[in-house]
Amino acid sequence: MHAWSLLSNMEDRFYASNEGYPDSLGFHYAYDSGVANHLRVAAGDLVVVRSSRTIYGVSRIDAIDKAEGIKVRFRCPQCQRTDFVERKVEKPTYLCRSCRHLFDASIRSEERVMQYTANYGASWRVLGDEISVDDLEPLLSGSKQNAIRGCKIDGLKLLLEREHVCIVTEPNLDRPRLVGGHREALVRVRNGQAGFREELRRRYGWNCLITGSCPEDVLEAAHLRAFAVHATHNPDEGVFLRADIHRLFDRGLVAVDPKTMTVVVAPKLARFSDYQALQGKSVAPGPYISALADHHRETASAWVTEMTSA
Ligand SMILES: [Zn+2]
Repeated sequence: MHAWSLLSNMEDRFYASNEGYPDSLGFHYAYDSGVANHLRVAAGDLVVVRSSRTIYGVSRIDAIDKAEGIKVRFRCPQCQRTDFVERKVEKPTYLCRSCRHLFDASIRSEERVMQYTANYGASWRVLGDEISVDDLEPLLSGSKQNAIRGCKIDGLKLLLEREHVCIVTEPNLDRPRLVGGHREALVRVRNGQAGFREELRRRYGWNCLITGSCPEDVLEAAHLRAFAVHATHNPDEGVFLRADIHRLFDRGLVAVDPKTMTVVVAPKLARFSDYQALQGKSVAPGPYISALADHHRETASAWVTEMTSA
């Protein structure tokens, strides 16, 4: 059993050269076979999820899903590296951080990869200021650039004890699957879909279908139908969703009624005014209607059952 430091996309991993890794903080961590240590991470391992500046929380991995995929990458036309960033105002649009080349058009490449999703939601504990990156750093091995770094497990346990943070000792392998099966597959985000994200941006701008205009950093390109089954990025069945809305949608707590094209919010969320305020909000019609209808049928029918049996 091991412990790992996982660098999450919230601040650090969002580069222009790929579409960003579709992590869902507190829920799952996504990586692929291009990442160091990808074969060593296993169910039952302890993980610290963090940015370069902040420790978000700790957990234990429940399960790891894997699937073959294509990773689309964009490269600097001069040095072929992928470490370039988008400039918000100035032109040319991109700056290569490796060779300092400035350019408007990057080179597109496709690579076969294995894509992994480490699910760690069952034991997730949010950390505030209890543990700093400076506390953690002496326990870590490997380059600071690596997304996944080994962590001394005994040292981590001491650190957690010091702060009275308790993580379940055994992995919760037979947890109730809140997000199981079909519903999880309905909205499946995969990395390596830069083209898909770009097409959604072209169609809808940086707008969450449910909440409207958002910073691009919190928008996730969501497949409304099972990507795992069809393995195609059909933009007609994709939308941007704000990360938290995506999670709620994923878990069947927010849906869109296709008859009225308005947002419906599960009774379970009634006490959260920010989410409740979305109830009845109009949603623009689009090619995604039939996919939304299927999701609505699946999710909203379960709410009725809950209320009837209560
Ligand atoms: Zn370059």
